[in-house]
Amino acid sequence: MIFKNPVPNFIYMMYRRFRYLYLNDTTPVVASIKVTQRCNLRCTHCTWVNKVTQDLPLQRWKEIIDTIYDRGCFVIFIEGGEPTLREDLSEIISYIKGKGMGCVMFSNGTRDLPDADLNAVWISIDGTEKNHDAVRGNGSYEKVMRTLERYPEKNIFSMTTLSKTNTSEIESICEELSSTSLKGLIFNFMYPYKDISSQVLPREERVAVARELMGLKQTYPKIISSDSYLKTVGQPDKICYPWLLLLATADGNITQGCTVEPAEERNCDVCDMMCGLEATLGFELYRDSMKFWNNFNILSYVDIDRCPDWTLRMSRINRKLDT
Ligand code: SF4
Ligand code: SF4
Repeated sequence: MIFKNPVPNFIYMMYRRFRYLYLNDTTPVVASIKVTQRCNLRCTHCTWVNKVTQDLPLQRWKEIIDTIYDRGCFVIFIEGGEPTLREDLSEIISYIKGKGMGCVMFSNGTRDLPDADLNAVWISIDGTEKNHDAVRGNGSYEKVMRTLERYPEKNIFSMTTLSKTNTSEIESICEELSSTSLKGLIFNFMYPYKDISSQVLPREERVAVARELMGLKQTYPKIISSDSYLKTVGQPDKICYPWLLLLATADGNITQGCTVEPAEERNCDVCDMMCGLEATLGFELYRDSMKFWNNFNILSYVDIDRCPDWTLRMSRINRKLDT
């Protein structure tokens, strides 16, 4: 039995924590839907593009969204491929919002954004212009910058996945992106999928880069990745709850668990991806991670800064990697 009318607020999170802690309820909390696997780009690190070429019809996605809602998720991340290639994207977003769930979209930022009530948009930016274009194709960076200029009022964030190709220019990335209309900069560490494992930073370098980012926040306050996440990078005792996530792939297959698994068997020892770790820390009520999620207006309408420590401590426990 789960809460049938999820609302994106603190009360629902506390309710789900209560059920997790005392009733061992590991039904999912957030969902990710790959509404298409088509893409207008051919990024060098992409493991997903064009593996499924036929999009599911709108009605099928509505049924999947119904299932996601019934299973207790209160926010849906729309991803791809490139979601904006779907002409009915605004209808998918409206359907999600109409059910009272939050909705965040991932995009490569090279196309018009939908005229829809999104909580936030995450645009992948892999470096300064030269490096970004080397990964995503010539002219991609310029298109992203035009997109940011076109939508200064939207709640748009950059998502930079760190690898051997871009860590040497982190400060330049922060400087350039801080001068745009982006509302915040998110950093992630590349997962060593089989095809791209040679691009992944060794553990010691990931730890060093994470520490560097914590320091850079003083100069570039638009960096919103939480210190709690950055401190877990490379640590053997990090916590990650893959059951938090419900994933619908482009062929409509729904699985619960780690985002790696539809592609290959997961290896948590070498994973520092922000999605699973930051979600887990938010669910564990780490204040800075909750504030991270609050940037997208999906976790809570309460002011986390005004919550006394005891309210957060009361509900927090640490468990080792869960399955
Ligand atoms: S924009 Fe995303 S889906 Fe498209 S090719 Fe690049 S990584 Fe793959
Ligand atoms: S740490 Fe989390 S996101 Fe990473 S592979 Fe393990 S379960 Fe998946």
